[in-house]
Amino acid sequence: MTWWVILMMGVVVMLKAYMIHAGEPQDGATLVFAKSFREAKKLGFNSCVCDGGDYIDVRGHQIKSDQWLKINAADKEKLEAGVSHVIDNPPSCKQCELWYDELLNGFCESCADDGEAVKAGGDYE
Ligand SMILES: [Zn+2]
Repeated sequence: MTWWVILMMGVVVMLKAYMIHAGEPQDGATLVFAKSFREAKKLGFNSCVCDGGDYIDVRGHQIKSDQWLKINAADKEKLEAGVSHVIDNPPSCKQCELWYDELLNGFCESCADDGEAVKAGGDYE
């Protein structure tokens, strides 16, 4: 056995972050940490966000920049153990209540651009 095979065997399967929803993400989306999109879809379908929907309507995508979510939203123990899991209430924007990959002072990128984050956090005369 060569050294790289031993190295490969020691690598824990990293979970990826997926946004799963039943149609439109605006109607509610759930955050799923899973090994594949297929698995994320299955887990998302069983969560409350897709309750009453058809499996065929379940959509989603992988969140490429998932570092922030892994630190701020994931179940650390499950993440480290490589156990797929659903986060029903990921940290969401204080204004529009949607969640994204990253929040700036509690606001999503588009709300922060509106200046709301500045108003809420800054000192005004
Ligand atoms: Zn927002």
